[in-house]
Amino acid sequence: MQQQRIELLRPQMGTTRALTVRTYGTVGKGPKAYFQAALHADELPGVLVLHHLEKLLADAETKGEILGEVVVVPFANPIGFTQYVDMKPLGRFDMRTGQNFNRHYPDLCDELIVAVKGKLGQNGTENVAIIRTELRRLIKERRASSGPMTDLQDLRFTLAELAIDADLVMDLHCDWEAAMHLYTSDSSWPDAADLNAQIGAGACLIAEESGDNPFDEAFSLPWVVMRREYGEAFPIPMATLATTIELRGEQDVYDHYAAEDAANLFCFLQRRGVIAGDPGPLPVAKCDATPLAGVDRVTATHGGMIVFSTKPGGMVKAGQELGYVLDTETGEKTPFSSRTDGFMYARVGGRLVVPGGLLCSVAGPNVLPGKSGNLLTAR
Ligand SMILES: [Zn+2]
Repeated sequence: MQQQRIELLRPQMGTTRALTVRTYGTVGKGPKAYFQAALHADELPGVLVLHHLEKLLADAETKGEILGEVVVVPFANPIGFTQYVDMKPLGRFDMRTGQNFNRHYPDLCDELIVAVKGKLGQNGTENVAIIRTELRRLIKERRASSGPMTDLQDLRFTLAELAIDADLVMDLHCDWEAAMHLYTSDSSWPDAADLNAQIGAGACLIAEESGDNPFDEAFSLPWVVMRREYGEAFPIPMATLATTIELRGEQDVYDHYAAEDAANLFCFLQRRGVIAGDPGPLPVAKCDATPLAGVDRVTATHGGMIVFSTKPGGMVKAGQELGYVLDTETGEKTPFSSRTDGFMYARVGGRLVVPGGLLCSVAGPNVLPGKSGNLLTAR
């Protein structure tokens, strides 16, 4: 294992922050997997999962079983780690800019289209290598031409540079109160079916572009665009499987979950040839992929307190009461329900809600009417 400490841009006098990066296996040899946790800095289940996974990786490395390269960033957001208000950690948004830590990753697609012109051939493997060479070059160029940057921009570039040429990009998150679920690209389905089954996800939400460039799409979208632009003339595989794995809810920080999740991710790496050994039979999948545009984000029609009658992790029917919002000043009591049948995979963590505030999310099988724009926040 090689450990690196990457100093981030020093935002102010007397301050330093750094990313720890550990690499197992041999750099540049075999398939590359990239893992990071806590990009939303208050989402800790992934940090514990990587703690367990790294023990398995270290053991595999000792036995010479790592066939490729596994890069682990055990905590991806030292900026967010230091943000506290009213004794609560606030790691989702950068408090100085208000920006979501998991948005605005470099979109290199336009430059990539130009950069590979005239270079692609009839060998898919060689095309992957050509595209990755250009991606590595373009992200350095983008950084160099960005002028003075904030520590947040530096963090985004640094993480993206670490993951840009990986075959597997695994960004570990969690929801407020939730069942295991994941996000990936339309073009990565059914390729991601083994991951979906192995980790026991209850929902697998797919979208080619969900809006505002979240981390995982910075690595899947270049391949989508390359295939769209050049795929008829040249063989271009969907070379990077990038995914955001939501490891249940933010309070679900337990060894029994994390050890099981780490073992499943290790099996997945074996199945993908990153690590030697038999992963055993693939578990039966709990779900098929469903469109991210099929998610109903159930919202409150008025302010008040939320009284849930349903927990995440089960199927619900359209129109079925999932709970109610109560305003004890006016006496208003409004039951809420989903517009679609589907799997209720998450609900909010707080119990006070404002008009239009999110209550819970249900993954339906079909695209909901009028659902467009930013799919990660659209109703
Ligand atoms: Zn998150």
